[in-house]
Amino acid sequence: MTLFQNPFPVPHIPDDLTIPQFMLREPSQLPRARNIPWFINDKTGRSYCFEEVHHRTFGLANALSIKWSIAKDDVVCLFSPNHVDYANVVWAVHTLGGIISPANPGYTPDELVHQLTTAKAKLLVTHPVSLKTALAAAKAAGLPNSSILVLEKAHNLPNLPTLDELIDFGASLPSNYSAVRLRPGESKTTIAFLCFSSGTTGKPKAVIIPHYSIIANTIQTTAHFHLLDPQWPNKRFLPGDVILGVLPFFHIYGLVVIMHFTLYCGASIVAVPKFNFEEFLSSIHRFKATHLFVVPPQVVLLCKHPAAKNRVFDHVKMVVSGAAPLSGDLMQQVTKIFPNASIGQGFGMTESAATVSFIQADKKIGTIGSAGGLIPGIIAKVVKADGSLGKEGEQGELVIKGPANALGYLNNPKATAETFVDGWLRTGDEVIIKDNEIFVVDRLKEIMKVRGFQVAPAELEGHLLLHPDVKDACVVGIPDDYSGEIPLAYVVPSDAAQKEIQKGPAGARKIQKEIEKHVSDNKVRYKWLAGGVVFIDTVPKNPSGKILRRHLRDQARAERASR
Ligand code: AMP
Repeated sequence: MTLFQNPFPVPHIPDDLTIPQFMLREPSQLPRARNIPWFINDKTGRSYCFEEVHHRTFGLANALSIKWSIAKDDVVCLFSPNHVDYANVVWAVHTLGGIISPANPGYTPDELVHQLTTAKAKLLVTHPVSLKTALAAAKAAGLPNSSILVLEKAHNLPNLPTLDELIDFGASLPSNYSAVRLRPGESKTTIAFLCFSSGTTGKPKAVIIPHYSIIANTIQTTAHFHLLDPQWPNKRFLPGDVILGVLPFFHIYGLVVIMHFTLYCGASIVAVPKFNFEEFLSSIHRFKATHLFVVPPQVVLLCKHPAAKNRVFDHVKMVVSGAAPLSGDLMQQVTKIFPNASIGQGFGMTESAATVSFIQADKKIGTIGSAGGLIPGIIAKVVKADGSLGKEGEQGELVIKGPANALGYLNNPKATAETFVDGWLRTGDEVIIKDNEIFVVDRLKEIMKVRGFQVAPAELEGHLLLHPDVKDACVVGIPDDYSGEIPLAYVVPSDAAQKEIQKGPAGARKIQKEIEKHVSDNKVRYKWLAGGVVFIDTVPKNPSGKILRRHLRDQARAERASR
């Protein structure tokens, strides 16, 4: 049987700790000066060192326990852009045994309602910029305003408690809770996060991620970079490094790699709430950022945007792209911009929480086209189309086993059984493995990746079918230089819409615009139909009614390529 794995061992992974015990109490074996900030506010420069993080986390935990009785298995939805207090909220909830469900702050009310109801959230923590949506969604999901709190004070806010008020309140009173304690093995089943992912098929589902996954993936990545090996010459992560936290913390990449792994290594994280390219460039300089974790569209901007020209980035030590494929061309261009940086890719999934492969510790520049080397502790196999196992260099679905794999999808045994098979996780990605490096060749699963974010065709198709002009629909991803992919909808028009379309191009355009608006009014921006709407007579389906999506996807790609 051909299995692939990194030959280096993983150090002991504790299985009786919660994430905050691991991050805040267990003295990291990596030295960290106590006065190095953990989190820095990108705009104001306000920062928290260990003592403040400790004070804020446990003060908040006490307030959450007193005011909302948050306790074991209660779900708190965190609906906010990156923020200096993001981790404090996460760890406060974990300390009480609660579960965090992080949500995209750009969501529309409907999208947030889906997450609140699927995860059965008891409390909603939000930010003034997302408050309007939060209030609308909470109402629709049956959450009272008394179950909403905000991270910051802002003008014109309804009378909702803010984090600072709650921390002062909690810290001023005797402890109302006993921090959750786990017996050996329990961190493998105690749920820490419900992150949303569509997996290989269907609509977004809640992925069950226990405390152990995050702790394991952090330790595995530490081992990948030989950070505890005194003999290893070139440490890629050192205490005092500065990480620009521009990737969203609600996504598994930001949540695990930035908010836990780099922090564990002793770095300071600059919490950047919203990506704006020119501000991003200024922040790199202002904070002397040493590490940039980015997605391919940000690499496109670094390589092509005029504002990036003639900038000197000598202090940047590492640039890692992940969440979607990075072309060899961009990879080569970006090496010229960051002459002193180690540059490469990482590969991971929400369901693998998170990292599966990372640029190798001994490489300055990753192999072109490679999504990195398997990190220690991951066992990988390549399953070919005929079900047999691929050897080195053979193409097939990447299937992995590792200590960080999630436990399945919440209340969805069917999807769980399809994706998590006998302890192995099916990635839905078609790859080749060479020298333990992963080369992603194609995606077998339905989802598309738009600017690194998942877009589930099934979600958009279900939504399109609600529109009176739509009789049937199929959504596919088409390549785009900036976003990687963009959604295009094949639509079978209703009879009335068909009559309008037959009147001529103006009629067709009117219907297309209405359908596009139906999506843009109700979905977060990256799900909009930037690839357009194309009318067809029927959606091709197999005899059991399953959409032959690949057929239309290939057709769309061929049409675009021939233009
Ligand atoms: P998510 O759960 O949102 O992180 O999405 C996981 C999916 O993103 C993977 O299954 C891949 O399809 C894709 N992905 C992540 N990293 C890479 C990469 N470096 N190259 C190609 N695809 C990637």
